[in-house]
Amino acid sequence: MSFRIGHGYDVHRLVEGRALILGGVQIPYEKGLLGHSDADVLTHAVMDALLGAIAARDIGYHFPDTDPAYSGADSLRLCARVGEMVREAGYVLSNLDVTVIAQRPKLAPHLLQMVEHLARALGVEQGQINIKATTEEGLGFTGAGEGIAAHAVCLVERIK
Ligand code: MG
Repeated sequence: MSFRIGHGYDVHRLVEGRALILGGVQIPYEKGLLGHSDADVLTHAVMDALLGAIAARDIGYHFPDTDPAYSGADSLRLCARVGEMVREAGYVLSNLDVTVIAQRPKLAPHLLQMVEHLARALGVEQGQINIKATTEEGLGFTGAGEGIAAHAVCLVERIK
């Protein structure tokens, strides 16, 4: 058996007048994440972890933020495309572990739905995906509510 590991990290700024979308779930909050796409920071970290695992560069290479095609893009759809790239490279996802760092709002009530969305987009079982939320105790840019960060690690297994 041949396994490979991948890691992804992303940050987006919180601003007024934008929807807050994490793991494809729109979360009620007074601010949302700024970005060219829907700025789904969690899904972006997942995509970079998957691309990293198959040595396929990064999200900015495949979905450039200078390309109008990705303006307001649904990141879950882009994530589904990355899932196809993993399979095309001869791998399947073993598991994915994600940590999203936000001082506010409380994300716990939404985590299960995020898992459902990501599992559907990637064509895997929900049990292969875990999403955790934490704060940084009021410290730094996440603590000040200026932005949200996300880390993701994944393991993929060679199938051909
Ligand atoms: Mg991003």
